[in-house]
Amino acid sequence: FHVPKAVNEPIKSYAPGTPERESVLRQYKEFYNSKVDIPLYINGEEIRTGNTRTMSPPHEHQHVLGEYHLAEKSHVEKAISTALEAREKWAALTWEQRAAIFLRAADLIAGPYRDKMNAATMLVQSKNIFQAEIDSACEIVDFLRFNVQYMTQIYNDQPISSEGIWNRVEYRPLEGFVYAVSPFNFTAIAGNLPASAALMGNVVVWKPSDSQIFSAKVIVDVFKEAGVPDGVINVVYGDPAMITDTVLASPDFSGIHFTGSTTVFKNIWQKIGNNIHNYKTYPRIVGETGGKDFIIAHPSAKPKQVATAISRGAFEFQGQKCSAASRVYLPKSIAEETLNFVKEDVASFKMGSPEDMGNFITAVIHEGSFNKLESYINKAKESNEADVIIGGKCDKSVGYFIEPTVILTTNPQYETMTTELFGPVVTVYVYEDQKWSETLKLVDRTSEYALTGAIFSNDRYTIEEATQALQNCAGNFYINDKPTGAVVGQQPFGGARASGTNDKAGSPLNLLRWVSPRLIKETF
Ligand code: GLU
Repeated sequence: FHVPKAVNEPIKSYAPGTPERESVLRQYKEFYNSKVDIPLYINGEEIRTGNTRTMSPPHEHQHVLGEYHLAEKSHVEKAISTALEAREKWAALTWEQRAAIFLRAADLIAGPYRDKMNAATMLVQSKNIFQAEIDSACEIVDFLRFNVQYMTQIYNDQPISSEGIWNRVEYRPLEGFVYAVSPFNFTAIAGNLPASAALMGNVVVWKPSDSQIFSAKVIVDVFKEAGVPDGVINVVYGDPAMITDTVLASPDFSGIHFTGSTTVFKNIWQKIGNNIHNYKTYPRIVGETGGKDFIIAHPSAKPKQVATAISRGAFEFQGQKCSAASRVYLPKSIAEETLNFVKEDVASFKMGSPEDMGNFITAVIHEGSFNKLESYINKAKESNEADVIIGGKCDKSVGYFIEPTVILTTNPQYETMTTELFGPVVTVYVYEDQKWSETLKLVDRTSEYALTGAIFSNDRYTIEEATQALQNCAGNFYINDKPTGAVVGQQPFGGARASGTNDKAGSPLNLLRWVSPRLIKETF
């Protein structure tokens, strides 16, 4: 089992005056004026139900980009039956054919579809071009290429045999279909959730987030052009509860590949439990959910380095990452200097539409998110346990803009120290230097989530102490670096506790969840 060695897709610079900058902006403008009409995609056919909803850019909510069609129950049922019909041929295809399709998809995104992927992501998820490039060009290509490599590692893992006996394992797909539910915040994750299950031979019903449908459509076009056969990946949009209930009612439901909120995931898990007697197999439940990711600095840490991690880790991508730094523990001796550096850094961030490539901060995803963030910021302004020390302005007149905001609190369990906000708001708690070890215990005790975390120190003993004390608080643990920006092939990503099942996206661990191995023992 051998494939070309995967390497990370190089990131393009989009520097002023480069042809790539001109070209992506051209595509952005074309999409901006396109008035698209996005159908469901079932059995390779575009289905227009006539029941539609409009789409707008979060940074300009009065502008209509077009509309998408909503599924009714019968469409979801059709997506399921279609997937099941496609299953036999797809599962029987040799692994090389499946690998070739997804390697081709990677090449299409890296090449002719790159501008479309990036422009769509800029437009509907309000990412600046540098963030879009990392997500909808490089990360998705990396997922596709590295997963092909990991697939062969899995296939190569064979039991020992002895004279007269040949033991072998066939890594068969699950018996049934996989349900992929993807989030708005990463186009790469949206593409990976259906693709990784399909790569392992499964058929899929995919429900993208309502806020990401424009870029999901580009992915669908790529899959089609790459040669994913009709019926293998079917895409439905609409009422999430109806779609999920219809999917989970099928006896052939065999697994869910989910990224999204903790509440929704727990809800789905419960529904699966309620239906368990109806299923032909035990469904695989794989989810990456929320985070309340921390940065803790030791008194030996360098203030500037900590400050950069805060401003990048908390505010890049408008903080709309499960991995975003959202609670920070600073020792008193370096707190002021660190926060002054954060202030300087934030003052240099320009905010506005992603079309202006000088803008670092753009809008948050929708009005619901804006209102929630604004209310936490306002509450902090009025609280006697907290104060807003940087940013704090919110303006939704044109788009959903929230300034990068730092809240300082005297209560380590203040609500924004424990609640996931999913936006550009970070809360800082200052501890007495001599309470370092106690603060580590506090971080552990107050970590309901366990996705990412970072420790800053220049003292090796304290790095070791933190690594041990915080071992259950972060599936991705960073030493002297921000807790975000995992790269496929380098830092497999995922967390435990309320953050998910920790089946590391972009790793053999994840792909193993999509197979049902058959052991064959043959005696000669
Ligand atoms: N993999 C991303 C990172 O390391 C975060 C993904 C997410 O937000 O779900 O920053």
